[in-house]
Amino acid sequence: MSMFDDMIVNAKSAANAVGKKASKLVDLSKLRISAADLNGEINRKFQSLGRSVYDAHKTGSDPAEKIVSSSAEIDELMEQLEAINMQLVAAHAKVVCGYCGEENSQDAIFCSKCGHRLFEDKSENAAPEEAGQKEEPAPGAEKPDEKTPEK
Ligand SMILES: [Zn+2]
Repeated sequence: MSMFDDMIVNAKSAANAVGKKASKLVDLSKLRISAADLNGEINRKFQSLGRSVYDAHKTGSDPAEKIVSSSAEIDELMEQLEAINMQLVAAHAKVVCGYCGEENSQDAIFCSKCGHRLFEDKSENAAPEEAGQKEEPAPGAEKPDEKTPEK
């Protein structure tokens, strides 16, 4: 490996470390390409199946075996396609920042605009702290019991 190759590798790893968001976008486009490929493959399987049934009809042979095997292949492809589509849907789901209203990606922990922590429901203990402080008696509002001398 030449020194130039080393430089390219280093530059690539640095880019990967810095641009996590960019690499995620690449993953999404890969998913879309996979979905399109699967769609095309499913359509080809359907065409092939139709052709097989036609040929079987013409030659007087039984297409049942071909139908069963093709259907199984199509089912498998459709399951893969569904899984990819679900990933795409999940990737597009947005989490709205409760502080500034900015839309963030679903796996974001902090708002990309204001830095506010998303998913407030996980840290509910912030609110009860304030409520506890209010229970302290204000000065001048002492309880009558404390002033009354003990018998
Ligand atoms: Zn925000």
